[in-house]
Amino acid sequence: MKETITLHLDPNHFDSNELKQAAQFIRENKTVIFPTETVYGLGANALSDEAVSKIFEAKGRPQDNPLIVHVSSIEMLESLILNPLDDKSKKLINAYWPGALTLVLKHSDKVPNSVCANLDTVGIRMPDHPIALKLIELAGVPIAAPSANLSGKPSPTEAEHVLSDMMHRVDLIITASKSRIGLESTVLDMSTEIPTLLRPGGVTVSQIESIIGPIKIDDAIHKTVEKPKSPGMKYTHYAPNAPLTIYKGTRENMIHAIQKEVNQSNLNGLRCAVITCDENYDQYLDTLRISLGSIKKPDELASNLFESLRECDKNNVDIIFAEAFDESDIGLALMNRLKKAAGFKIITV
Ligand code: AMP
Ligand code: MG
Repeated sequence: MKETITLHLDPNHFDSNELKQAAQFIRENKTVIFPTETVYGLGANALSDEAVSKIFEAKGRPQDNPLIVHVSSIEMLESLILNPLDDKSKKLINAYWPGALTLVLKHSDKVPNSVCANLDTVGIRMPDHPIALKLIELAGVPIAAPSANLSGKPSPTEAEHVLSDMMHRVDLIITASKSRIGLESTVLDMSTEIPTLLRPGGVTVSQIESIIGPIKIDDAIHKTVEKPKSPGMKYTHYAPNAPLTIYKGTRENMIHAIQKEVNQSNLNGLRCAVITCDENYDQYLDTLRISLGSIKKPDELASNLFESLRECDKNNVDIIFAEAFDESDIGLALMNRLKKAAGFKIITV
């Protein structure tokens, strides 16, 4: 079993000396979990094949799913890309970096094939988190980091999640507070003529379009496609142990249909969970109820999704029913993750 060192830091009051060992570990091609504003990341030196292979091993991640590379400066970004930054990428970087926006760009020969799964592009972002930024800066190399969960499980948004998934699988775990956004970054492919949204996330489509005009939305966001452009899109992600079905319709129809399913499942001796919101919480009976928060606060709904899926696992439920939420702005990312957790099983009522 691997020895895992743990380190708890307060993002607002930490001394950079406390990150020295973690930075040293990155330079030694070891694995370090660190907090970001999206979800916790499982990081290693992005310039080393040996280091990157340890990420895939720790997560049990398929090799054809490329990693996002995290940088702490524009110089670091420029060392990873083939061509000078195009105007649209520059504008987006000015507007949203550091932040939850990953840009997919043609990569230079410094990027090992394992990072980009043999594609000619690489996904890069600058995280908006003081611990993540300082760690990259001290390490002096870009850090490849997917979400720090076991492959296929919900992404970790709390210290407790990484500790339970990843103890003895990595060399060091840095924990801090709950991830502010709680969903992964937006992935935008800048290598196509019209930039293409490959994954909705913390930065919304309207935020992007307000800076660079219309973008394309990849099909894989709404449904399962056989050969998605972002290889990660083909895997069932974020899945809780129990099967999950989404109910979409008017408030009344949704509540009625879900309660009917709960009653039937109870008769069959199944333990149910309902994923709902504060406004509808009281409407459900005889089931575990998990509220993501108020529908008036979409950011809060989004930040609690992964936690709610883990809660279903913790309670050993047999079957999960979820309400569909509004898909505008951050709701697009929230519903994308919920749909993937449901294997796109949606019932319109
Ligand atoms: P994760 O870091 O686990 O949240 O996953 C990273 C996501 O970014 C996956 O969906 C990847 O398929 C996607 N991604 C990373 N690099 C690229 C790339 N070069 N081209 C397309 N998609 C990418
Ligand atoms: Mg992930």
